[in-house]
Amino acid sequence: MDEDGAQTTDTQTDGAQTADTRIVDTEIADTNGLYIDGEWVPPVKGSHFETVDPATEEPIAEVAAATAEDVDRAVAAARDAFEAWRDTDPEERGRIVNRIGELVRDQCEELAVVESSDQGKPLSQAKSDMQGAARYFEYYAGAADKLEGTSVPVGAGQVDFTVREPYGVSAQITPWNFPGNLFARGVAPALVAGNTVVLKPAEQTPLSSLRLAELCAEAGVPDGVVNVVTGFGDPAGSALSSHADIDTITFTGSVPTGQTIMKQAADTVTPVTLELGGKNPAVVFPDADLEAAAQWIDRAIFTNAGQVCSAADRVVVHESVHDELVDRLIARADAYELGPGLDDPDMGPLASRDQFEKVSQYVELGKREGATLVTGGSAPDRQGYFFEPTIFTDVAPDTRIAHEEIFGPVLAVTSFETEQEALEIANGVEYGLVSGVFTADVTRAHRVARELEAGNVYVNMWFGDTNQTPFGGYKQSGIGREKGMEALDSYLQTKNIAINLDDDAGSLPGA
Ligand code: ADP
Repeated sequence: MDEDGAQTTDTQTDGAQTADTRIVDTEIADTNGLYIDGEWVPPVKGSHFETVDPATEEPIAEVAAATAEDVDRAVAAARDAFEAWRDTDPEERGRIVNRIGELVRDQCEELAVVESSDQGKPLSQAKSDMQGAARYFEYYAGAADKLEGTSVPVGAGQVDFTVREPYGVSAQITPWNFPGNLFARGVAPALVAGNTVVLKPAEQTPLSSLRLAELCAEAGVPDGVVNVVTGFGDPAGSALSSHADIDTITFTGSVPTGQTIMKQAADTVTPVTLELGGKNPAVVFPDADLEAAAQWIDRAIFTNAGQVCSAADRVVVHESVHDELVDRLIARADAYELGPGLDDPDMGPLASRDQFEKVSQYVELGKREGATLVTGGSAPDRQGYFFEPTIFTDVAPDTRIAHEEIFGPVLAVTSFETEQEALEIANGVEYGLVSGVFTADVTRAHRVARELEAGNVYVNMWFGDTNQTPFGGYKQSGIGREKGMEALDSYLQTKNIAINLDDDAGSLPGA
């Protein structure tokens, strides 16, 4: 998350106007378009769907609804483009990917307006997402010519070394919470490693991915190397993830969809990288700076209206400071101003009607389960999928709102007496994406960080991961790592090459 992203500037307002017009253009120009093999093509079956501004519930663009035939076409284009892209000099691949980053940075304001209109998030958050997207391209561009293998010392009779090769066609399926940013998170490492890509954005938020595909082409990405098929999970998503001619899958989304994809991938033994949900605990000890903890937790649960895999969905707080922390959190939650993303409010609407209904149902469930609703809990009386910042206390660890990912601005607070109990509550869920610990005791910080079952642990902060740091889940929160150099492992396979230098017949298998 980018602190600078919170500033509103005149330039942003200008950007909003320019890109507002652009959205109208998009509505006209992109109506027919799937982006396949370097051109806009209409879907084979000719069907389209509307993408809606969640602040107004009004359609903002018509988008092609891809079917299996379109996915076949996109995968074939990516397959045809693969060899030439793989064999492009790494420094040239890096140069092109860096150029994408420059274009994304240059057009950050416009992309942010598209994202904010389609997804609902405040403009400054959308802008921060796009700066992050640019950064992914810049970061991975530098790695293109450094994907080195190793030389293995096996003795005088043989030369042995490894090379790291791309898989081939990378299928990428993205969710609706950070569509543009996650496009870059997957596409940038895939490209520098020499793979070609077919990406399906979520049906709720397709627009930024279409625009980013155009920028890839503008930067010099050859035809067929990046393809975007818009459409629904079924048929477009499942046609892509079960396609016999893809070589690796990157998926970010819900656990059930991740499980479906993994089962399909088993048929063709296709590797998967899955970034799934979280039910992330912020564990607050009595010696923590409570004002700082409240500030971090507030940001961690209410950014993007809580629709963040790594949101702080749960607070696990020592009973001695429970009331003081909760009072501070309530004061912050009550200060939020809600509004359309383009007005850059504190919080925008939820991204879709489905998500609004899901969040509303979880809040009703929380009440029935006996948790105490201390603030929020309803939708303001206005158009759009808005939901108030909501806090439950007395959340029993065995209830559903303590276990299940709500993906909305709903915080569940539970108190503890001992460190052991805090860890049991924090780790007592099937998820393990991120966790946080707030304490002034450095020894305890280290001890608890080691015990927390999560791919990322934040100490006295939240959203501590950057483009450079590996990110991914323990337990049902996923497989593999995004971000950082480690993400390249999802896009490269190792080949070991052994060259004989001896006349000798050599060793037997297993030696
Ligand atoms: P949500 O339920 O919150 O929309 P999903 O995990 O279902 O989350 O969606 C994330 C992405 O997965 C979206 O792009 C969606 O279209 C896609 N998707 C949904 N179902 C499938 C499926 N069966 N196979 C492949 N992709 C799917």
